[in-house]
Amino acid sequence: MKIVVGHLYPDYLNIYADRGNIAVLSRRAAWRGHELEVHSVSIGDPLIPGEHDLLYVGGGQDREQALVAQDLVAKAAGVQESVAAGAAVLAVCGGYQLLGRSYRDLHGSELPGIGVFPVDTVAGETRMIGDVLLECELEPGLRRTLAGFENHAGRTRLDPGAQPLGRVVAGFGNDGESGWEGCRVGRALGTYLHGPLLPRNPWLADWLLAQALAHRHGVAPKLEPLPDELETEAHAVSAKRAETRGGRRR
Ligand code: GLN
Repeated sequence: MKIVVGHLYPDYLNIYADRGNIAVLSRRAAWRGHELEVHSVSIGDPLIPGEHDLLYVGGGQDREQALVAQDLVAKAAGVQESVAAGAAVLAVCGGYQLLGRSYRDLHGSELPGIGVFPVDTVAGETRMIGDVLLECELEPGLRRTLAGFENHAGRTRLDPGAQPLGRVVAGFGNDGESGWEGCRVGRALGTYLHGPLLPRNPWLADWLLAQALAHRHGVAPKLEPLPDELETEAHAVSAKRAETRGGRRR
């Protein structure tokens, strides 16, 4: 089966190897006989609602966010329509912030977001850097952990009642205070976790693939389990690092 991915601003928002997330989705789809078709959607490119089963956007420094923000606003209706129609989303760090309502950078300049996530972000004086470990429950009753790396000045506030992606076990998360990380709106996930995220969290890659397949084919087919020894070890190493040294301001 085919899965169509819209990779937003791969030429601007791609730090800490965020591009690696696409490679993982592509391999894990192929290992199950599915094909991942990746479309680069950058400045000036059209975004046709419903064309993509999964929208992906990586992180970036304030400068790159400022370069794409206005173009993303011009694509807002297309992204929101795609999400409302059940497309999956993975938005990382700077991309997560711009899929919120706004990002005010360190110099006080306000970048408009497109409001997929009910959050606002304001940059603080210090950067929140380090390994992170979260506890998530994307499927009721099924608790799993996510391990990754964060580096952001932004403090993200969720609206009351908004759903975070996970509870911070170690690290800063959205703002270093609330104890929550990321945001979830149905099949759309926002997170500060770089790394890239998916190689050391294969269950989340499979969750996103299943949501994308459900978007295109109506049902989320069962994905055959894969021999994830290396991935599981990478997760354990990353989780240990987070527990021993996550969450220090610099
Ligand atoms: N520029 C944003 C911040 O500093 C996002 C950084 C990132 O994507 N790593 O918070």
